[in-house]
Amino acid sequence: MALPADFQFSQSSLQDYVDCPRRFYLRYLRGLAWPALQAEPALEHERHLQQGVQFHRLVHQHVLGVPSEELSRATADANLSRWWGNYLEHGPADLPEVLYPEAVLSTPLGGHRLVAKYDLIAVDVGRRVVILEWKTYRKRPGRRWLAERLQTRIYRYLLVRAGACLNEGQPLESEQVEMVYWFANFPDHPEGLAYDAAQYQADEVYLTGLIAEIEGLEEEGFPLTGDTERCQYCRYRSLCRRGIRAANMEDAGEELELDDELDFSLDLEQVAEIEF
Ligand code: SF4
Repeated sequence: MALPADFQFSQSSLQDYVDCPRRFYLRYLRGLAWPALQAEPALEHERHLQQGVQFHRLVHQHVLGVPSEELSRATADANLSRWWGNYLEHGPADLPEVLYPEAVLSTPLGGHRLVAKYDLIAVDVGRRVVILEWKTYRKRPGRRWLAERLQTRIYRYLLVRAGACLNEGQPLESEQVEMVYWFANFPDHPEGLAYDAAQYQADEVYLTGLIAEIEGLEEEGFPLTGDTERCQYCRYRSLCRRGIRAANMEDAGEELELDDELDFSLDLEQVAEIEF
């Protein structure tokens, strides 16, 4: 199946493909916004997503220089206020000083573009670069799960491949890059994931292979996942005849947190303007 020539791959779309090829097809090729609930109770889940968006905005403004006292006045909600307090008291330490909040990088790969929007990139020119991702997960994921995420693989890979513009024009070495997940609910337990040239090569082969595989599929060739647990938290479950009711958010593991990413998904129209 030929993808549209301007189709852009992101960590969300490739993660969807890996988790369930049918979900990728429905969401990105058919463009279906199926209206089912993702999780119950609906209001509580929606509130959690909104709080996550607000937390990202607060940190973004803080990184841009808005005083913390001023921002603290905007955190009336108890959950948001706690996350914000955790960030102020136990936020990431020892970061390089040059900060690029919400940077977007993009590169050609496999005949398409691969794009990513980063929460924050901190640069010590010529020495090291730290990718920061803020997470409002209810449960702290394990290191191995994080390391295997498409977000981890794509963000580090893309920074090495397309990040020279953040490093005064010098190409970045893989070994200069680290990715840190900072968890608003677990501020004392961030996860740092270093990078190296072997992993960079492996990521390039893997990502190029995934894109080629998707390109080679016919429309009916996007199978439903065999892992039916994923369907419990998927908006397309009634369309796929994989159940009607949403599962409870309290019972969810990482699979529910994943879709939180969609709320911070790329505004792809912006990418062309700030593409590196
Ligand atoms: S309901 Fe299940 S099979 Fe259908 S798109 Fe979602 S995860 Fe895939």
